[in-house]
Amino acid sequence: MRARKRFGQHFLTDSSVLDRIVAAVNLRGDDKLLEIGPGHAALTELLYPQAGSMIVVEIDRDLIAMLRARFSELEVVNADILKVDLDEVLHGSDWRLVGNLPYNISSPLLAKLYGHLERIRDMHFMFQRELSERLAAQPGTKDWGRLSVLTQYFCHVQPLFDVPPEAFSPPPKVESQVIRLWPRVERRPVDQQILALVLRTGFSARRKRLSNALKSLSLDWDALEALGISPSQRPDQLSVDDYVNIACAVEQAAGQQQGASEGHPND
Ligand code: SAH
Repeated sequence: MRARKRFGQHFLTDSSVLDRIVAAVNLRGDDKLLEIGPGHAALTELLYPQAGSMIVVEIDRDLIAMLRARFSELEVVNADILKVDLDEVLHGSDWRLVGNLPYNISSPLLAKLYGHLERIRDMHFMFQRELSERLAAQPGTKDWGRLSVLTQYFCHVQPLFDVPPEAFSPPPKVESQVIRLWPRVERRPVDQQILALVLRTGFSARRKRLSNALKSLSLDWDALEALGISPSQRPDQLSVDDYVNIACAVEQAAGQQQGASEGHPND
């Protein structure tokens, strides 16, 4: 099994780890499963017999013929998961996603998937442990950052178990962790660009006092207090709800300003 560095290939070889992932996913016979990056099919061969239907998206052209030959009813898509049109690949809803992926695509992949959650029931991914810890972090800790807030706005997050480098061939330089994510249904709607702006602004000044850090967003002391947020906190102490409330306030203020500048036809 030749591993291609370019595609971040680290193949899982430890059967107890493979079994634990399969048990965690816990497929039912009619489940629809998407596996991202099947590689030499270590996970695929265990999941395929248990799934109702299964699609894999694999970037490495050299693996495609083998995948097609081994699994007669597997839908094999030869593409970069970051470029693929997910609305075309995932028909309907209730999809379950699985992947032991290259670590350099984890964050952009998550950002992409958060835009398609209406099609997804849950996701089980192997990530670098540091990333997994950031996704599951609590406010006020060093791991709490933009991606933590965004992830926990969109999803419930449950770290499952650690996986050591020796479980892979070739072994990666880092520890890994399997994590489960599933969409939150009770999200307060918020403009994603404004939320991203608020998170960038806040976390680029994470040690400052909030009232200073968010000045550029025209949120003063009183505006923060009106949201039930103590302005003397630091940006890295705020919860997901705090950030969403701030983003909604910024959105509202922007809307009001726009309304005012459009003026009245009789002015
Ligand atoms: N899941 C297999 C392979 C892990 S290696 C196992 O556990 O053994 C990561 C796999 O993801 C490789 O097969 C690699 O070719 C594939 N891959 C890397 N980047 C990808 C991308 N952008 N889109 C789809 N697949 C990708």
